[in-house]
Amino acid sequence: MLFESLRDWQSRRRRFSEEWEFHRDQMAAELRASGLRQSEVRKIVRRRLGRKSRWRRAALKEIGGDWRALLRCYRPSRCPSPWVAPAWLALALVILFVCNPLRWQMLSSFISEPGDYVPIRKMLVIPADFARLIWGTLLISAAMWLARTGRGLRISLYALLLLVLLAALGVFLWIAAIQASIAIKWPSDLLEGSILLGFFFAYFWASLLTAKRWRADVASRCPVCLKRLRFAMTRGRSCDVLVHPLELESICLEGHGALREDYWSSRFQPSAGFWKDLAASGSE
Ligand SMILES: [Zn+2]
Repeated sequence: MLFESLRDWQSRRRRFSEEWEFHRDQMAAELRASGLRQSEVRKIVRRRLGRKSRWRRAALKEIGGDWRALLRCYRPSRCPSPWVAPAWLALALVILFVCNPLRWQMLSSFISEPGDYVPIRKMLVIPADFARLIWGTLLISAAMWLARTGRGLRISLYALLLLVLLAALGVFLWIAAIQASIAIKWPSDLLEGSILLGFFFAYFWASLLTAKRWRADVASRCPVCLKRLRFAMTRGRSCDVLVHPLELESICLEGHGALREDYWSSRFQPSAGFWKDLAASGSE
């Protein structure tokens, strides 16, 4: 694989030189045929084509034969640590808390409910039942989905941690939005009401979309090392549903196994060692 890409890169560089020489010889042959002397031919060709190095750089860049293309071949594939996402979420929570001038009101609204709902501008605690209800329902259904798929305790705990962080961020954002709407001097109650109503719907849909994205992310991770599965390959036919259905297979680069997904099911097949298998098949 490594030598193959190096050979490919070298052949691209050679291709430029070969093409350049071909055009130069062609032009010289035509000029010679018209009865010119060799020294004159050389001079005209040099004038018409210009310096080789002038074209070489641009041409190699265009066909992927420059040094940058070589570096791209050997750059390790981007496979970020599974802990990058929870770290970003935790950081977002801290930033949202620290940057909020009413941070203590946000914190108390996060854990308690207001005793009295009216008037909203005088409330010490912001009502966040709507956000809590949405995220609570999503958390329960996520736990049920994780239990049903049965992909292991490790990935389930990781997935729940991610969703709990997302839920906390979601409720924090809700409280911050209500705090902002209270701080704004609205010109009319109708405008305030309609914007709040629009916000409720947008919040609801955004929460559902986030949960959908979370589910797709969890499903595409290796249950052992929690990293994303790679090299997705499709097999089968999309028109066949029963006999030879369309199947998507992706593997863990650490060699923990492969995930096979089709219309009916999704199962992770652990392997004894992907790289060991490869080495064994190579030595046969
Ligand atoms: Zn793995």
